[in-house]
Amino acid sequence: MPYTPYHFGPSGFIGLVFRKWIDVPVFVLANVIVDIEVLLWDKWPVHRYVHTLLFGAAAGAVWGIAAYLLRHYFERVMRLIHIPYKACFWKMVISGVLGIWLHIAIDAIYHPDVRLFWPTWARPLWRLLSERQVEAVCLAFWFLALATYAIIAASYIKQNKARKTGAESD
Ligand SMILES: [Zn+2]
Repeated sequence: MPYTPYHFGPSGFIGLVFRKWIDVPVFVLANVIVDIEVLLWDKWPVHRYVHTLLFGAAAGAVWGIAAYLLRHYFERVMRLIHIPYKACFWKMVISGVLGIWLHIAIDAIYHPDVRLFWPTWARPLWRLLSERQVEAVCLAFWFLALATYAIIAASYIKQNKARKTGAESD
């Protein structure tokens, strides 16, 4: 799915800024996982079950639970990329749901076949912005996400250093 990388911008930025309440890796990866569905269909519509609020929520919750079982890997990776992180079950479940909802809300503006409010065909978001505008907004969020990440990682490294020198002088 060629559009998936666009989702890293908004999900990365929102996840990082609200990381106190949102599990960053679960939230961001939910935005990627949801597009596996698109690869399953070779006929239109390619956005079917998981691209609805209802099934999307179920899939997001399942993803959050699965991620909780893998929490030690998440904690290790987050340490490696210098983001303060603590796995928490409910935070992960809710972040899985919100991650998929963010993704499909963006898709609902862009793709005509997304039935956000299934079983109805209501498409209130469709073409709220043009395709070009959606892409531009996503790209802008990419830069904001990178800047936010740089700030978080820098302070994480600084704090770690302070803690180490503090431990040495004790
Ligand atoms: Zn999608």
